[in-house]
Amino acid sequence: MAVTGFYPGSFDPITKGHLDIISRSARMVDELVLAVGVHHGKTPFLSAQERVGLLERIAVPVIRDAGAAGSVVTFDGLVVDAARKSSARIMIRGLRDASDFDYELQLAGMNRTMARDIETVFLAASPETRFIASSLVKQIAKMGGDITEFVPSEVAEVIAERFGN
Ligand code: ADP
Repeated sequence: MAVTGFYPGSFDPITKGHLDIISRSARMVDELVLAVGVHHGKTPFLSAQERVGLLERIAVPVIRDAGAAGSVVTFDGLVVDAARKSSARIMIRGLRDASDFDYELQLAGMNRTMARDIETVFLAASPETRFIASSLVKQIAKMGGDITEFVPSEVAEVIAERFGN
């Protein structure tokens, strides 16, 4: 049976940390679905359309290189419902530090209570990228800083255009 993994996140913007988790988890599944959370009432940095476009151009080829099929979807409801809609039984999440651990364990526990058929699999962040956070990338970009070390080059270009950095 083909194994489908589901990696949900805001990806606002996608960072080299996300890409690390994507390339490593793609080696463990036959298909990896990247799911962009669209929360109504929360103003994102990049629009859902922009985030989907960047994932399709940057992350899907990385998934293919790892030997799996890749696709991008959006979701605005429960993540377990979105995973089931994609026929995924494995939820992928990344762990950077103790605060990720506490939050992610709670999230995985609640999700597992709601959906016994879906298992969360955690990947430890790689040492080279574990310090990268989308929230900090956004702050640096808004203040005119250089984000090229933290995000794929195409993301840096899109953000530079936006902020004139
Ligand atoms: P969310 O809003 O769901 O936290 P994010 O896009 O910030 O969305 O993160 C999605 C997932 O990717 C989370 O499991 C998060 O811990 C993980 N992640 C984010 N940055 C990194 C990183 N630098 N290394 C490893 N995992 C990461």
